Amino acid sequence: MASRPDHYRTLGVDKKASADEIKKAYRKLARQYHPDRNPGDKAAEAKFKEISQAHDVLSDPEKRKQYDQGTGPFAAGPGGGFGGFGNFDFDASSMGDILSNLFGGGGGGGTRTRGGQPRPERGQDLETEVSITFDQSVSGAQIPLSVPTSTTCNTCNGTGARPGTSPTVCPRCQGRGIETEGQGMFSISQPCPRCGGSGTIIEDPCPTCHGAGAVRTVKRYRVNIPAGVREGSRIRLPGKGEPGRRGGPPGDLYVVTHVMASPVFKRKGDNVEVEVPLSIPEALRGAEVEVPTLNGRKTLRVKPGTSHGTVRRLRGEGPPRLGGSGRGDIHYRFTIDVPSKLDKEQKAAVENLSKVLNGNPRARLFAGTGAASAEGGNE
Ligand SMILES: [Zn+2]
Ligand SMILES: [Zn+2]
Repeated sequence: MASRPDHYRTLGVDKKASADEIKKAYRKLARQYHPDRNPGDKAAEAKFKEISQAHDVLSDPEKRKQYDQGTGPFAAGPGGGFGGFGNFDFDASSMGDILSNLFGGGGGGGTRTRGGQPRPERGQDLETEVSITFDQSVSGAQIPLSVPTSTTCNTCNGTGARPGTSPTVCPRCQGRGIETEGQGMFSISQPCPRCGGSGTIIEDPCPTCHGAGAVRTVKRYRVNIPAGVREGSRIRLPGKGEPGRRGGPPGDLYVVTHVMASPVFKRKGDNVEVEVPLSIPEALRGAEVEVPTLNGRKTLRVKPGTSHGTVRRLRGEGPPRLGGSGRGDIHYRFTIDVPSKLDKEQKAAVENLSKVLNGNPRARLFAGTGAASAEGGNE
């Protein structure tokens, strides 16, 4: 009888560790001890098995509960010892998922069906950022883009084997990619440590890619940025991600737009806002003022007595709506431009104005509070 393994200790986590903490600890250790990284190292291989077992139990809420309580397959045997490892129904396909994620093999689907042949795997998605001007975000643009990615190795056509040779069936697992230890109740299946679950091994690696089947490269594209994108918009370029494996489809490329700020136009959702300063006389008497639009200029009529912060909307004059119909609006926000210095003549004019425009605009602040007079303000 095996003694009860301490799965928490194996993963280096607390008994109260969250599912996330367990996953993190497992990934870190699996990466460290994976057979691909430690070829021929028996100790690492054993450790990898332990880690896999611990993860198998602790990542499954039901198994973890039984393990914690020492019930189910974890119940103590007749001799008082621990009754083996329990019935490990190791799900090789989900293991493939985890491993392929660990080693950057791509996000889509497992690498194989249970006990079957390795199946095609979709390439990873890529993401890159482009900086565009505000004008380009409104009218659209073609932007040159360089994307680091990998491409199928031309020397070996992606097999990873030296030209003239080919990958051979893994002698350890006979191509199954998984390995089963023990029998019946106590059997444990896990990815073959020799071939890492691929079912094949490369005896004579390709001199160009050293067995990877792919080489790093930089691809250049001209990307069409559609009119109406905003800060953080994601444009999907199907099939421009990492190439797939074993004939799988390539991933996608996502281009995230960074829109440089315009000194004039501020984006607000579907609309843009423009601050329009008015002189004091313009605000008082009204005026016709020229304002910028996204494609030229327009004259706006400012009503007499326009106050600071008044907004005028021009419907449908804003940026195009991305993926939708029509355009947003332009909001013109009037501000009153107050000179910080006055010359002698201006001072005299203000003096005159103050004689005729002499109401107290703050009177309403005190209406009904019993503090309407300045003398009572300190009560
Ligand atoms: Zn194998
Ligand atoms: Zn190659």
